[in-house]
Formats: sequence, structure tokens, C-alpha cells
Amino acid sequence: MEASCSLDIDQRQAAAFDRIARLIDQAHTIAICAHTNPDGDALGTELGLLHIIRAHWTGKQVACLLADDAPVPRIYRFLPGAGELMPAAAYEGTPDLFISVDLSVASRLADAQSVLNRSRHACIIDHHPCDDPFGDAWYIRPSAAAASVLVEEFALHLGVPLTPDMGLCFLCGIITDTGRFQYQNTDAEALVASSLLVAAGADPAMVSLNVYQSFRLEFLHLKAAVMARVVTFAHGRIAYSYATSADLERTGASLDEADGLVDVVRSVAGSEIALFLKEVPGGKVRGNLRSKTGLDVSGVARELGGGGHMAAAGFTFEGDVDEALSTVLPKLRALFPDDVARGGTTSFPRIDLS
Ligand code: 5GP
Ligand code: MN
Repeated sequence: MEASCSLDIDQRQAAAFDRIARLIDQAHTIAICAHTNPDGDALGTELGLLHIIRAHWTGKQVACLLADDAPVPRIYRFLPGAGELMPAAAYEGTPDLFISVDLSVASRLADAQSVLNRSRHACIIDHHPCDDPFGDAWYIRPSAAAASVLVEEFALHLGVPLTPDMGLCFLCGIITDTGRFQYQNTDAEALVASSLLVAAGADPAMVSLNVYQSFRLEFLHLKAAVMARVVTFAHGRIAYSYATSADLERTGASLDEADGLVDVVRSVAGSEIALFLKEVPGGKVRGNLRSKTGLDVSGVARELGGGGHMAAAGFTFEGDVDEALSTVLPKLRALFPDDVARGGTTSFPRIDLS
């Protein structure tokens, strides 16, 4: 069935896409990469773009890189082409063109930064706010729900017919970045983009089955522990929880499985801001911040050396969970300046790390 709606591509976007297409025209070897700790949108855009290049250009040598050595998260291995993803550290080429998707800050390229540095040209298609993008050409629109929407629009601009494989990749990106069309970034463009992908043969139930209904018991036990210790303060407006390395060891869950657990925290009624922390190797803690209202959490993430969107941002903290909470919770409380005046406590709920 043909989808009876379409996506608008304005002149600025068309001109940026033309510049990127010209760079691809002129390149023989191409490396595509997304951010470290890749999510469904990062991998969906990367592989979707691989399928676009193969459909529209012949004779290009394309490598799909993972920013670091971690394996592809289990729930995303169903994406068509996932078997071609390789760690950047194992890639020895000097590409004519480096294409960064779902990412515009070089520091989040991890091992792929050295590939970027030795590439002859670079370009970006992304939806993260960025004042100072790298490369020769870029299209960055923070209002887009997912980078997948923008790369799909790149295919439409080129006149490349959407295939079921492209469709599954981009649909996975849109579904995961909008939290199954539940977050504030869900807009008409994301829904129209999804409709076109489904019309092209992508199966939403396939994304759902792999990403949301294929959890290992080990992960569910970890989720239960995280759920059991959710705490709220600031009159219930801030909610947080965490997973320690001991939790991972005890339950047998893996680090990447803990990625979506901030959704458990944000589900608390009345909470406006959610924080989830997990201990990662090297004495560090990864933090996920979410805002359910108009409050901007990206500033707090940036203060902690991270970044992201207003409603979804992240950071990495040097130290343990206890130290991270002592640093982050006051910053979150400061987003509600009237809370103490309203009788909110100035101390934070006790953290039980047992
Ligand atoms: P998550 O919490 O799911 O890791 O990330 C939420 C959003 O913030 C994503 O768009 C992600 O790319 C961005 N983000 C997460 N961590 C960082 C970080 O350390 N630096 C920057 N610049 N962005 C981040
Ligand atoms: Mn994204």
C-alpha cells in the first residue's frame, strides 16, 4: 500500500544534502560511524545509510564502524547489515570520506576519532544540538525526533526508493528515540516518516519483538532491583535509581542491557526529571537524564562533561555511584529553585548501596 503522506525537505536541507551527496560521489572509500554506546537510532542510521549508498552508488567501498570495542547490543543484531559492523580500532583504512550519523561531537567517536582524523573529507547527518560541527558538510536539525528521520529524508531527496531493509533500520531508530512514540519529541514528521517506512515493507512488530520483548531473565532481575530502589525527592518531581557493578555480577546482566533502565525511573507518577546511573568499568559511572516536562536537563549533563537534548541527555562521571549522586542530585534540585522554600528537604534520600 502506498503511504498517502509525504515529508517536506526545505531548500536549506536540500542544499546540505546535495553537498553531502557530492562528497559521496567523489569518494571511493567511505567509513560510516555513530556515537559510542550506540542505541537503536545510532545503529539504524548507520546501517540505513549503508543500504542507501549501496542502492544509489556502485563501486563504493563502505565500512560501518563501531566507535569502540563493545559488541553490537544483542537487541539490535536483527538490523539488516548488523553483521558488517566492525570496531573502529580494527579498521586500518584511510577513507576518502567519513560520515558521522547521530553524532556531531568528535569526542563521542571514541576509537573512531583517529579514523576521522586520517579521512580526507567528513560530513554529518545528525539531530543533536551542536555549535561547532566538524567536517566539510553537514545537516544537523535538533528538532528532528531521530537522526533516522533525517537519513530517510536523504534517501527521499536522492530519489532512492525505500527498501524493507532501509525501512527496518530507520523504523528501529525512530521507535527507540521516541520511546515507542511516547516521548515529547514524537511529532507529525516522525509519524509520517514511520508511515512511509511501513509502507516500504518495514514491520513495526519486528522492531518491537527484538527491542522490547526479547529480554533475558538476567536483565529482568536487574530491572527488578533497579525498580525496587527508585527514590523520589523534591516533592516527587525528581526520581532516580542506579545499578552497581555488583548488581550486574549478581544478576548476570550485561552492561549494555542496562541501557534502557532510565525508562523505569521516568515512569513514576508525578516525576518530572529522571536520573539513572550505572557503574561502568574503569571506576566510572554513566548517567542518563530525562525530562518529562519543559525542563532542560542538557545543561546539567554538559556541566558534567556530557551533553544531549533538552529532554534526554547523558554524561560519564569519574567515581562511584555514591559520589555521582552527591554531585548530580544538587544540580537537579537546582532546577526547582522554589522547592526548599516549599518545605523540601535540603538533604537527599539516603543511598543504600548494600
Ligand atoms: P543516553 O542517556 O540515552 O545515553 O543519551 C541521551 C542523549 O544524550 C542521546 O542523544 C545521546 O547521544 C546524548 N548523550 C549521552 N551522553 C552524552 C555525552 O556524554 N556527551 C554528549 N555530547 N551527548 C551525550
Ligand atoms: Mn538519535
